[in-house]
Amino acid sequence: MAFNCIKNDKQIYSFVYSLKDWIALKEDKTSSFNMACCGNRAILKTSKLGTQFFAHKSKPETNDCSTGGETPEHIHIKYLVSKKLFECGWSVEVEKRGVSNKGEEWIADIYAEKGKAKIAIEVQWSRQSFIETKRRQQVYKDSGIRCAWLLRSGSIKDRDAIVGDFMHRTKSVPVFSIYKTKKESDSTYQVYNICKVALEEELRLDPLDQTELELESFVENLVSGNIQFRSKYSPTSQLSLDIVRLQCWSCKKPTNTVMKVRFKNTLYDIDHEYSHNSQDVDVCDKETIEHINSNFSQSYNFPPLRSRYSDTVGSSYIANSCIHCDALMGRHFLKSWGSYYSNKIVETNKITVPRNGRVLMEFGTVSFYNRMVDYDIGRWVLIDTIER
Ligand SMILES: [Zn+2]
Ligand SMILES: [Zn+2]
Repeated sequence: MAFNCIKNDKQIYSFVYSLKDWIALKEDKTSSFNMACCGNRAILKTSKLGTQFFAHKSKPETNDCSTGGETPEHIHIKYLVSKKLFECGWSVEVEKRGVSNKGEEWIADIYAEKGKAKIAIEVQWSRQSFIETKRRQQVYKDSGIRCAWLLRSGSIKDRDAIVGDFMHRTKSVPVFSIYKTKKESDSTYQVYNICKVALEEELRLDPLDQTELELESFVENLVSGNIQFRSKYSPTSQLSLDIVRLQCWSCKKPTNTVMKVRFKNTLYDIDHEYSHNSQDVDVCDKETIEHINSNFSQSYNFPPLRSRYSDTVGSSYIANSCIHCDALMGRHFLKSWGSYYSNKIVETNKITVPRNGRVLMEFGTVSFYNRMVDYDIGRWVLIDTIER
């Protein structure tokens, strides 16, 4: 089964023909049709699914001509993708072979070129591990080709083939799942940027709409640049402070005290409650303290936060001081009095600071930073779903 053949010494592709023209081509008795693989006589066929293809008129003598056990659906998808790419003005080759600059060979299900752009679309109907997908992606990268993956997602039972490691979605490996819809209609395949079935559990805390497109529409959007990567984590945070006016325990005068440091982050560029957090000053890192002191200390009239020795605790930590007598406004003091004054908390304006590089983990009521932010993590999405 092939999508190309030699018609009178010229290469032709089955997916460029409308059904009417394809039938006319079948009736063309004056031309010669030969297989591109071996030069033997070719016949024109149409599968039950609608794939137009060329086949050896008589059984090939060697195995070199076999396409190797691909299912009719796999071939049909390759056919539809090729057809759509052709309609979008790309020159398409199926099963194209090449070698990367590191000497690794590749065979692309669908390879296409337009101007300087080179792309491959791989249809993975059998299981392939994330590691292997990543490796093959690198081979394409080393060949100057951008590759996107369509992984089969058959049923709920099969979803682990797609979910599993593929839930780790990154910028470097654009992975989509493809479902064969049960209904008999023209739109036979649906493409998702995630396993559809796994959505609910994973997206509970996720503000981003899923991308769901018919195969042809997916291909069109992909090559038009409408499917773009959105990093999960923003590179910056919005920092603000909760400040309360407390009576100094030592001199009894009122002094402004930083109660909380607030970080407002986005998830996929979307303002989302889950990604916000606040912390006490004594657990802030050095950079954060510097941002606070240089941006807020003067305008909100509190002494710069600094490391101070506490007799009560027997060690040093970052703390507030009284603006009048410089007494340590210790964390125990703040805890006991802060809640008393909490109705008078003033939230400062926000400043933009580099993200502190860690992801907040939450377990019940306990939250802490324990994972470095990975900016390669994110989603390939239809941009319309974001801008809506
Ligand atoms: Zn052949
Ligand atoms: Zn004081």
